[in-house]
Amino acid sequence: GVKDSGRAGFRFHQPRKDVDLLARMRLDHAMRQALLERRFRLHFQPQLDLASGQVIGAEALIRWRDPVRGEVPPGEFIPVAEESGFIVAIGDWVLHEAVTQAQAWARQGRRLPVAVNVSALQFQQAQFVDRVRQVLQTAGLPPALLELELTESILLRDADEALRRLQALAELGVCLSIDDFGTGYSSLAYLKRFPIQRLKIDRSFVQGLPDDASDAGIVRAVVQVGRALGLQVIAEGVESEAQRSFLQEAGCHEFQGYLFSAALDAATFEARVWGVERPPMRLVQGGAG
Ligand code: C2E
Ligand code: MG
Ligand code: MG
Ligand code: MG
Repeated sequence: GVKDSGRAGFRFHQPRKDVDLLARMRLDHAMRQALLERRFRLHFQPQLDLASGQVIGAEALIRWRDPVRGEVPPGEFIPVAEESGFIVAIGDWVLHEAVTQAQAWARQGRRLPVAVNVSALQFQQAQFVDRVRQVLQTAGLPPALLELELTESILLRDADEALRRLQALAELGVCLSIDDFGTGYSSLAYLKRFPIQRLKIDRSFVQGLPDDASDAGIVRAVVQVGRALGLQVIAEGVESEAQRSFLQEAGCHEFQGYLFSAALDAATFEARVWGVERPPMRLVQGGAG
């Protein structure tokens, strides 16, 4: 077509960087509007334990449907929010929303830990620990029902300060995990010092299982490290039976992935996990129930 013919020849455009900047500024503006207009929602992805066959937790994942752009994936807007600093406001909304939902479930006798993603910039805010304490207290949620998913990047700026914060959070009683483990910079020495309860094996390593020898080796190593340090290990992005069985043989018993369920809105989550119309989500021999 006419558009394509431009590809090989001349094109009128500004340097790509500037175009991207403008797009990012527009997206940032739209995000600020979305928070004001309450357009963000949380979805919850079940986490399953193969040993018990039960749903043992839920990861809260932000969703945004913009009237013009449609559904904007977090992979697109979270990096922009991190760049502009707006992630701090978004993160605070997510924390509050997730804790409120976990408390609503707990009140119904459904004591399910809910995991929240925390950005490095959010974690670095001086008042972050106080804010977590305050949100938990206001909602009346037992801290053990909140898990904070941190990335290795929280260490990049000031590891000593990060350690102090992690200790304060651990004393508060919240559960701490390292998300996307293996993709960042953390050393095993840090892992030993930090009051972390859980490692989340990054989806990029699970993807190549069982055939990719490097992925297989990395996953086995992470499970061994977790075991040596007394940590729980959960695999994310588990999509196939072959991946699940490899992970299980490697000693990983906790799973999160499309093989079991995508992230669901709260009502669907409740119906699927606890509902009566459909059988509760339980693992049967070798698959989702
Ligand atoms: P993450 O924290 O590692 O979350 C897991 C992502 O993998 C989610 O994508 C989830 O939907 C997706 N996923 C789960 N199982 C599978 C699977 O079997 N196959 C595939 N292909 N994907 C799977 P999502 O919701 O698009 O979020 C992407 C990333 O955006 C998250 O990665 C996290 O880094 C960030 N994010 C999402 N929600 C929040 C939030 O509330 N706060 C912050 N700071 N970041 C968030
Ligand atoms: Mg996560
Ligand atoms: Mg992850
Ligand atoms: Mg990830």
